[in-house]
Amino acid sequence: MLQSQLFIPTLKEVPNDAVVTSHVYMLRGGYIRALGAGIYSFLPLGYKVVKKICEIIREEMDAIGGQEFHLPALNPREIWEETGRVEAFGDTMFHVKNRDYVLAPTHEEIITYHARKVVNSYKELPQIWYQIQTKFRNEPRPRSGVIRGRQFLMKDSYSMDTSYETLDKSYLLHDEAYRKIFGRCGLKFFVVGASSGAMGGTGSEEFMVQSPAGEDTVAHCEPCGYAANVEVAISVIPSVRREPVSKDLYDISTPNVKSIDELCQFLNINERQTAKSRVYFANESPVLVLMSGNDEVNETKLEKAIGSGIRPAHPEELKDISGADAGSIGPIGFKGKIIADLRLKGGNNLISGANKNDFHTGGIDLERDVKNLEFADLRTVEAGESCPNCSKPLQVFTAIELGHIFKLGTKYSDSMGANYIDETGGEHPIVMGSYGIGVERVMACFIEQSHDEKGMIWSKALAPYHIHLLGLNLKKEHLLEASTQIYNQLKNAGFSVLFDDRIDAQAGVKFNDADLLGMPVQIIAGERKLAENKVEVKVRKTGERFDVEIISLNSFISGLLEKL
Ligand code: ATP
Ligand code: MG
Repeated sequence: MLQSQLFIPTLKEVPNDAVVTSHVYMLRGGYIRALGAGIYSFLPLGYKVVKKICEIIREEMDAIGGQEFHLPALNPREIWEETGRVEAFGDTMFHVKNRDYVLAPTHEEIITYHARKVVNSYKELPQIWYQIQTKFRNEPRPRSGVIRGRQFLMKDSYSMDTSYETLDKSYLLHDEAYRKIFGRCGLKFFVVGASSGAMGGTGSEEFMVQSPAGEDTVAHCEPCGYAANVEVAISVIPSVRREPVSKDLYDISTPNVKSIDELCQFLNINERQTAKSRVYFANESPVLVLMSGNDEVNETKLEKAIGSGIRPAHPEELKDISGADAGSIGPIGFKGKIIADLRLKGGNNLISGANKNDFHTGGIDLERDVKNLEFADLRTVEAGESCPNCSKPLQVFTAIELGHIFKLGTKYSDSMGANYIDETGGEHPIVMGSYGIGVERVMACFIEQSHDEKGMIWSKALAPYHIHLLGLNLKKEHLLEASTQIYNQLKNAGFSVLFDDRIDAQAGVKFNDADLLGMPVQIIAGERKLAENKVEVKVRKTGERFDVEIISLNSFISGLLEKL
């Protein structure tokens, strides 16, 4: 392709609204342009990458027996009302004004609608149906470019089975296909066992990449592969120390001491000698949560331990519940359920609030002094703590979800009445799975992982072109002719080449643009080398440079691409 004829509106400056690296480079490289908040147009270079990702996905989905569909994005609202998800999606769902239609944020309902009409017998199952289709979600904070768009391309697939055992097989096929897809795309990813959240169902896994642009925080152990969202991650840490003799309870006057740090300073003690109190309501009954020192309550874990519908107590409610304000609340004499973090198990001679303003109680032996005390893992894992599987130190970082696989079970087939008939004529709901990949998000995440200060660095698998041929000084006719000859030589040999044939662009501009656009191999055709019948070949990723004879250029490039 001739660069003079390709629309690549590169930018020198970083656009104001772009902070995430992939967003900056996709805009600067003329790969995308914004149309509105969270709405992007893909320009020719960007769309080439999207199509390459789609092809990899198609090949791997077809390899597991997936059949490609194309479902409408414009959906009758009444179908979505069958599962109650118009309400569940709330403001995230786009509604078409004055018509009973919605724009699909995902396609479980539409797949189940078709399955209800066409699948009758166990003989027709299993099925894997997939599509690569635009989704619409009115994301409240579209940012990070195409990582979180309001309109985005998703590969979504749905498995239909007669039993949970065969669902496990369909799920595993997807798990394997996803590992191949992301591996072929060149992504360094890891897999997190996740909770299925609003989608319903039982097992689910998220495929993630580490990125500062991520909105999820995960704990990851590279040596053994343990990975979990910090909402559920666990670690191995020492419990608080138990002293040989438990003291009797005693009151300590602590005027104006509110926080754990103030308490430790005031009494000159270590935070592990204290038990911090947090008051919650669970279904409107007060619950005292005890944590060691400054450890923070992880509300997802708390909810799991005591049931859903929790909320922190408001400051003005505390006195009524405990007799004291925040900073002076503790387990001794607290009327209501008390639950303590596992780290406090066995703890004695602890200091906590006295349920009396400006007083703390010392000598607390939790198991001795607190009736019906329950323990649960309630704290958030921190970096450096030991992995629960292999004891190596955990890393904690932000990450982006590339894909998600769910075992839906019969949530949708039940609510929409999609049944099959078994061997004996009995009717059962189809057992389903649902599996998504964000196509443009894969592209952005690749850039997040593969760039330098000059621009993007594409892999062979995703690059819009493999080779960027830079013709220099093309105002000189013999140089234009020589560069064009090299272009034709490469093109005729079947290489994918972008030829920077711009007559007016300076060499420096061409070098900068080539580094920004990120094709894996650059061929620089400059006057001095051409005079020796040579060109310079540069590997974008490593910066390695080679002088290569034009006659042997094709075989040299083949060998190089083979290795990349
Ligand atoms: P997130 O937690 O990032 O909002 P999600 O859990 O809502 O993701 P799913 O409903 O599982 O995502 O969608 C499947 C895939 O679609 C995701 O793994 C992600 O790659 C992609 N995706 C989801 N929302 C967006 C979006 N707003 N823009 C781009 N891609 C998205
Ligand atoms: Mg979402």
